[in-house]
Amino acid sequence: MKKLEGKIAVITGGSSGIGLATAKRFVEEGAHVVITGRREKELKEAAALIERNVTTVVGDVSRLEDLDRLYAVVKEKYGHIDILFANAGAGTIAPLAMATEAHFDQTFDVNVKGLFFTVQKALPLFKDGGSIILTSSVSNVLGLPGFSAYAASKAAVRNFARAWTMELKDRKIRVNCVSPGPIDTPALATTTGLTAEQAKQAAAQFASQIPMGRSGKPEEIAAAVTFLASDESSFITGVDLAVDGGMAQV
Ligand code: NAD
Repeated sequence: MKKLEGKIAVITGGSSGIGLATAKRFVEEGAHVVITGRREKELKEAAALIERNVTTVVGDVSRLEDLDRLYAVVKEKYGHIDILFANAGAGTIAPLAMATEAHFDQTFDVNVKGLFFTVQKALPLFKDGGSIILTSSVSNVLGLPGFSAYAASKAAVRNFARAWTMELKDRKIRVNCVSPGPIDTPALATTTGLTAEQAKQAAAQFASQIPMGRSGKPEEIAAAVTFLASDESSFITGVDLAVDGGMAQV
């Protein structure tokens, strides 16, 4: 029996990495997915990989008018949402002494403000009894040099799940975080500002801090998100599910 048969799911940042792997898995489990990303070409390529039951909407989650456009498409096409995976996010590396205002604003605009309004603006379309999953990060409890703005933004996301669990409980909407450890996605090489060689070194250094001795695969996050999206997790809300090979657990 498929876990998400007939469900309507919205996934932000669905064109790459964790979001794309989750979109693929959701469709395999019987869902229809609406994926967003900032670049049309990447979104179309992602849709081709997902193959079926996928709609794409180009948009930046930190722009509220783009979110309005996204949900107008969802309303017109499906009329409601069962599952929201608020996953779009990024972070450049900047030690405190060198960080600029632009670095700070960009990090919080996408990871905090963008995610906040992604969820707020979905609520009118949300079915009672649905599931919201937020992408935080193991950095929400770690002190990682160079990642302070990013980690703080992900700690904010972790707290959103607590408050929104309370605010949405009467609608029986569950809200949980998934917190990936280091995962093999394009992010480290493309969004952090590292060169390819530095990204390789950073990945090796992270792996050395992980009890399981390796970084994770996007599909391993997708499996956890599918669990949180489905009725398999029907008595789980407000949690932060770390999928990190033990990195932040020991
Ligand atoms: P990725 O770069 O492969 O994918 C990021 C996705 O988010 C892309 O689809 C991109 O288009 C989208 N995105 C970024 N900024 C956006 C914006 N302003 N508006 C709309 N879409 C935007 O990265 P990923 O590793 O799959 O990251 C997904 C999430 O997982 C992020 O929130 C990231 O912070 C988090 N995360 C990643 C790791 C890791 O090691 N890869 C670890 C912990 C948390």
